[in-house]
Amino acid sequence: MAYVITDACQKDFLCATECTTTAIHPLSDEAGADTVTQLFINPDECIDCGNCISICPSNAIFPIDELPADKAGFAEKNAAHFQ
Ligand code: SF4
Repeated sequence: MAYVITDACQKDFLCATECTTTAIHPLSDEAGADTVTQLFINPDECIDCGNCISICPSNAIFPIDELPADKAGFAEKNAAHFQ
């Protein structure tokens, strides 16, 4: 399982700063930070700790098995960012 960021993301970069691993990109100083519409979680690096959910002020992050039906496509969008 992994956690997934959806289009409610406001790009405040709080989750990327607080991530237990380095699963969330881009960081604020990485290439692409200005142009992406949201941040993404690498499913191969996420350890399901939940820190990002608790810090996100826009409720943009979900465990993959709790994604709302209208956000289901974001699991693939998060993974695709790292391919
Ligand atoms: S659940 Fe934990 S490891 Fe996974 S993206 Fe969130 S903070 Fe990072």
